[in-house]
Amino acid sequence: MMTTDNSGDVRLSGISKTYGSFTAVHPLDLTVPQGSFFALLGASGCGKTTTLRMIAGLEDPTSGTVFLGDQEVTHLPPYKRPVNTVFQSYALFPHLDIFENVAFGLRRRGIKSVKKQVEEMLDLVQLGEQARKKPHQLSGGQQQRVAVARALINHPKVLLLDEPLGALDLKLRRQMQLELKRIQTEVGITFVHVTHDQEEAMTMADTVAVMNAGRVEQLGAPADLYENPQTTFVANFLGTSNLIEAEVDSRGGDEIVLKAGGGKLTLPQARCSAPATTGGKVLVGVRPEKISLTHAEDAGEIPAGRNRITGRIADSSFIGVSTQYVIDSPVCPEFEVYAQNIDRDSRLVPGAEVVLHWNPAHTFGLDAAQD
Ligand code: ATP
Repeated sequence: MMTTDNSGDVRLSGISKTYGSFTAVHPLDLTVPQGSFFALLGASGCGKTTTLRMIAGLEDPTSGTVFLGDQEVTHLPPYKRPVNTVFQSYALFPHLDIFENVAFGLRRRGIKSVKKQVEEMLDLVQLGEQARKKPHQLSGGQQQRVAVARALINHPKVLLLDEPLGALDLKLRRQMQLELKRIQTEVGITFVHVTHDQEEAMTMADTVAVMNAGRVEQLGAPADLYENPQTTFVANFLGTSNLIEAEVDSRGGDEIVLKAGGGKLTLPQARCSAPATTGGKVLVGVRPEKISLTHAEDAGEIPAGRNRITGRIADSSFIGVSTQYVIDSPVCPEFEVYAQNIDRDSRLVPGAEVVLHWNPAHTFGLDAAQD
């Protein structure tokens, strides 16, 4: 519906930011694919907002260059950059109605006939009926949609979103995640979204950059980051990971065989980001929902070729669709397992001896020597 010159993506080259002796962002190279929904994800203080603000022109980089499409904008003020920012505080004009809030950017540029464009934009964010209301008469989610419409009406090449859903309750937040994704798909322009919420980044973004202490630890599609984390930080930040310290026994073909707690584990070469030399240590990871649990008495029924370790159930909690088990095991204390409640074995109670087993394809390997 919106015609946008869509030549703009974002390229950061060696961008850094220091405050006195503190480095908030270490030199960073980052390319945001054109027309993508890109998330900068990380815990509070990791430098994601500073990175966004350097793209917006609200913060001067200490070093490096910022490109928006083919244009170098490193030293351009915010209003001369083809970007717009949506903040957590919607920053709507309280005395103007919704129509005039959205029309503001056009009027400021001296455009007289704004009706069609504003109506189109209000339809895009599904607020066509609310045009004559004042901001305080709308819900938080609706106000945030007005802020998005107001930011998009000037057809920026890139829309920057700084924790835009942070002030909303969980249910509304989930609705707005889908809503923002729909809007981005419809307008097709590049969105760069800052969030500390891993679920939010995974739900919305095509590409996620996971930041930690001023650096991008890993960049990729959500499923790839979840399935193939390359650092312990990413493995633990995106969901729960069980990490087993293991020693490389042998390598051959596409597989690495490791020793752990008297048993052997198999890891696909392609899923190991550690050097994995024979005799070296590797952290072997597996997600809790990939593991099956079998009572030790039935261990003989476990199919061959599965990774397996033994343990004892320390704790279990029923959480509806699944049961969450904590397992004590010689190779990984407090091993977490989420088992679906289908045909649940009544013997799987605290104290029971069990075998945990999983398809080796769901195993990932991390460098045990990293920080
Ligand atoms: P949050 O989600 O809490 O906003 P963030 O990941 O977005 O966190 P930034 O706001 O980018 O983090 O801040 C990164 C680091 O830089 C923090 O440690 C912060 O205290 C520091 N910092 C940010 N702005 C300044 C400033 N103007 N002066 C000094 N230090 C700053």
